[in-house]
Amino acid sequence: MKVIDPKRIQGASSEVVRDINRRIVLNLIRTRHPISRADLSRLCGLQRSTISLIVEQLIAESWVIEGPTGRLPRGRRPTFLRLNDERVIVGVDIRPSQITVALSDANGKFTSREVIATSTDPKSAVEELIESIRRILASSRGKKVEGVGISLPGRFSHISDRLVFAPNLKWRDFDLRTPISKATGLEVELENAANACVLATVWFEHNEASRDLVVVTVSEGIGTGILMNGQLLRGYNGMAGEFGHVPLDTKGPVCGCGGRGCWEVFASNRAALRYYGEAGAANSGLTFLDLLSRADHGDVRAAKALETMAQYLGRGMRMIVAGLAPERIVVVGDLTRSWNRFGPIIEAEVRAQILPGGGMPRIDPAHEDGMARLRGTVALILQKDFGVYF
Ligand SMILES: [Zn+2]
Repeated sequence: MKVIDPKRIQGASSEVVRDINRRIVLNLIRTRHPISRADLSRLCGLQRSTISLIVEQLIAESWVIEGPTGRLPRGRRPTFLRLNDERVIVGVDIRPSQITVALSDANGKFTSREVIATSTDPKSAVEELIESIRRILASSRGKKVEGVGISLPGRFSHISDRLVFAPNLKWRDFDLRTPISKATGLEVELENAANACVLATVWFEHNEASRDLVVVTVSEGIGTGILMNGQLLRGYNGMAGEFGHVPLDTKGPVCGCGGRGCWEVFASNRAALRYYGEAGAANSGLTFLDLLSRADHGDVRAAKALETMAQYLGRGMRMIVAGLAPERIVVVGDLTRSWNRFGPIIEAEVRAQILPGGGMPRIDPAHEDGMARLRGTVALILQKDFGVYF
């Protein structure tokens, strides 16, 4: 019979407690910096001596540095703590048309960035990407690089470690991690773009974070990232969240996934350009941003095309609201630049079909500067050390 040594159990659990406390303190410093030891103690209800031990450990690990000394009444001069911005992360945002490579500090502040075109051949795309990562790393000399976080326009399987579904990218069943990890000697983490945006939202929007949140990314296609009960939902083979490929009309236009009439063929940026063409306007070579600008300059057909896209966005979101009951939906994409145009239509469409007992979620545009995916890649790397989202 197996004998259980109670001393060992006790040892293990106190270690777990220590690890949890360490992560809580690290996250408090991350979200509240600059912060004093006394404030940390007050916020997490741990004794000053315990806080001091944890802080010393975090300083020794060079996660945290001591900043300037503060001034408080009655002569107290606390030392403020903050994250060490000499620890950096390489963030990569792969999109069907372009790849952005950027260097960020642990606070999500980007210091350098470059954009390269996305090759249709995955092998040469990865070679070009590695070259770009090397150039970015050359600018980070003397800093500690935590790893490479990659946002993908498709689903990534943590079982097979491969890109399993990327209809707008057309790289089939490809291993991205191994060549990049071999070439750089760094840890590489991959995540779907919409999931990366979920991480960015919960990680960097400290005060507004919700535990039941869906991010809808709208670009060439539509992706969703789902956070339920504070956990990222990946599903079997990483395929959860493909609402973009649920058909709204099975007789609709053909979709990149091979099906017909999926939500994204009615509500993506490409759909708006198609509506514009169908209205008799010349749309060849036109980008979605051009369309937004034309609408703003009084082009009635452009405004109508965007209105139709917005209606379909709202209709598709009804699936999300009825199925997942999020507290909040965050929309990411170029359309957020014209939120005055899109927001009210989307909201009216969703509101028109709220179930009795169901609440209307808050629908917000992401604080969009095109960096949500990249910020998500930073969170993707850091979360392994920080452990918790909130
Ligand atoms: Zn589809």
